[in-house]
Amino acid sequence: MPMKLTKTDFIQYLNCPKSLWLLKNAPDEYPHGEFSVFLQKLTREGYEVERYVRLFFDKAESRAVDFQRVFETEDGLFARADAIEALGGGGTALFEIKSSTRVKTDAAHNHIKDACFQVICAERAGQTIDVVSLVHLNGNYERAGEIIPEELLVFEDVTDQVREIEAETAEEVNKALAFLGETAFDRSGCSCLHKSRANHCDSFALFNPDVPTPSIYSLPRLSQVRRTELVANGIFDLLAIPEDYPLTDKQMVVLGAARSGAPIVNLEGIKEFLEGLSFPLYFLDYETYSSAVPLLDRTSPHKHFPVQYSLHVLQEDGTLRHHDYLEREARLPHLLLAQLRADIGDEGTVVSWHASFEKTQNKEMARLFPDHADFLADLNERMADLEKVFMVDYVDARFDGSTSIKKVLPVICPELSYKGLDVQDGASAMDAWQKMVAAESEESDQIASALLGYCELDTFAMVEIYRFLVRLVG
Ligand code: SF4
Repeated sequence: MPMKLTKTDFIQYLNCPKSLWLLKNAPDEYPHGEFSVFLQKLTREGYEVERYVRLFFDKAESRAVDFQRVFETEDGLFARADAIEALGGGGTALFEIKSSTRVKTDAAHNHIKDACFQVICAERAGQTIDVVSLVHLNGNYERAGEIIPEELLVFEDVTDQVREIEAETAEEVNKALAFLGETAFDRSGCSCLHKSRANHCDSFALFNPDVPTPSIYSLPRLSQVRRTELVANGIFDLLAIPEDYPLTDKQMVVLGAARSGAPIVNLEGIKEFLEGLSFPLYFLDYETYSSAVPLLDRTSPHKHFPVQYSLHVLQEDGTLRHHDYLEREARLPHLLLAQLRADIGDEGTVVSWHASFEKTQNKEMARLFPDHADFLADLNERMADLEKVFMVDYVDARFDGSTSIKKVLPVICPELSYKGLDVQDGASAMDAWQKMVAAESEESDQIASALLGYCELDTFAMVEIYRFLVRLVG
């Protein structure tokens, strides 16, 4: 019995044949990453978009459209076409549905390639396809009452683009089927050794057991040229990089921290950052919600809006107060904003971590609520980004080349931890908020309490990191 090859398998094959071989032929060895909350959300959103495509076709009664029709071939190809339409003149159209706001053609997400695989499978199974369309979301659609499928959805005829790559894709499909049928393959080294860590899959450690931690992949923004050079010389260990090897200042700091086994600290830079802050200090963090199909009026596909904030206010005399707000209903953040206005005074620095995110939310809220635009612009003017300190002025090899608060906090304040919290990160907070607004009271209260605890830790962590820096500069 031949191995089954689906569109998802084929895309994985194109990215890395050996990771697909392992998944299919030796699933016990394959380091299955978890089906993350983020991936679960993507899957749900795919179904949600399909629901509106169905509504779109339901309105056009004369159109004969079939959803999720299966095509299978004897040599193992398997496709479940999102939608198939019998056209008036006797032809057939295939629709590939996406929850993005454009047709993607980059290496990691090539929608034309996806559609081409479906066409090849359908045609090899005996179904002629005359027209191929991609259905995606209209990024400019702004919800106003009931969703209008005709305005939400964009249909793009991509028949020519699909036919253009059909011959080469058919060849790749054949190679993928043949490769899956092989009994073994060369497991040594990964082609991804030349790529940054963001490109490594869950199997990287399995195929590259000799790459240590910390490695050259811990260096921030290492160029392709430098990475290729180091790999060609068999240098993977951060500590094996020659003394005189040309690196950027930021990379040198990470390397220096790894070499010394102690953090690299620029006291002057930290002092300068701290002197730029003025009391009271407002440690602010938003949690947001976004969805492919807009949930609320005046929102658009994939546009975020804040649903929660945590705010710790630190006075010069050390007094610390905590405020928070959690939107318990699915509505725009006008009440959140009113509360924030009451909680934040006219003086003092607003401290955030990765402040560009908070600034973007403020700009979006200013667009939604022009009455608050001056207040929100003022917040952005008064904002300082605590993360920046950890980019150059305080670097510890244990951050593993990252400046995320989730990496910095356990090193700086090991007594504080996100472990054990029901909500662990932004993606799970978004998921929890959606469940909370849909849940009955008791469950909703439990989720609310988890969300409040998570967001409070985010700002308390900033307070403690700030206090650490103050002690450090003495
Ligand atoms: S890290 Fe290795 S196994 Fe994973 S995608 Fe890259 S080459 Fe394939």
